[in-house]
Amino acid sequence: MRKIKLYKILRALTARVSIFRKHYCVVCEHHADTFLPYRSGWQGAPPLMRVLDLIGSNLDQFECPWCSAHDRERHLLMYMRASGIFDNIQSMSVLHFAPEQRLSKLIFSQNPARYIKCDLYPTAPDTERIDILAIPFMDKSFDLIIANHILEHVVDDTKALQEVWRTLKVGGRAILQTPYSQKLHHTWSDPGIDTDNACLQAYGQEDHVRLFGRDIFERITSVGLESCVSTHDQLLPQYDPKEYGVNGKEPFFLFKRPA
Ligand SMILES: [Zn+2]
Repeated sequence: MRKIKLYKILRALTARVSIFRKHYCVVCEHHADTFLPYRSGWQGAPPLMRVLDLIGSNLDQFECPWCSAHDRERHLLMYMRASGIFDNIQSMSVLHFAPEQRLSKLIFSQNPARYIKCDLYPTAPDTERIDILAIPFMDKSFDLIIANHILEHVVDDTKALQEVWRTLKVGGRAILQTPYSQKLHHTWSDPGIDTDNACLQAYGQEDHVRLFGRDIFERITSVGLESCVSTHDQLLPQYDPKEYGVNGKEPFFLFKRPA
């Protein structure tokens, strides 16, 4: 374990000082030779996930060697900027689930009208304990709800989505990034998949409770949310996913509570 940690530190240092710094982190604004992989990268992902071409994190270009931001944090910031949400967040009341450390600092620095960071198991004093299945706020409280890679961990995703819809203001938006397989027609889970290894093999991670298929968009809109989903190519055509260390197949899961 210590050997792996030491290797990672050395790899991060090398990536920072190399003269071939062709990658760029939008979070810390540093260049690097490479981003660091998650575990052993895409080749080390469970075979079923590779066969189903799971669209989630960029496992090969995952962690920034300078600031440790993960690819999904970088991609979300890029999407929020490109959609205008980030620049207009000052006027918004924001609820942010499982707030990513660096992204939440950047959001906070924009001075949102109200910014509540929350988690089911908070580890920071400024993060409230909130269960997405029972959001303790009145109807129509928020202009923006951010739940980046949350739904795949929640046992009752429909209830979670109903709570998101209920607490969004009319016209309010939710960012709901979630890993899924475009090849799989139907989202699936099975109560027999009940060990860490079974969940890893079947759903892609030990603490995931299902594998979403291409019906994920219908599942989300079935609670009354309206899809405003865009692809990387539509919203970020000038950004090479490789250079920025993001998964170009990951769309921007943006939904709106319509009138
Ligand atoms: Zn960085």
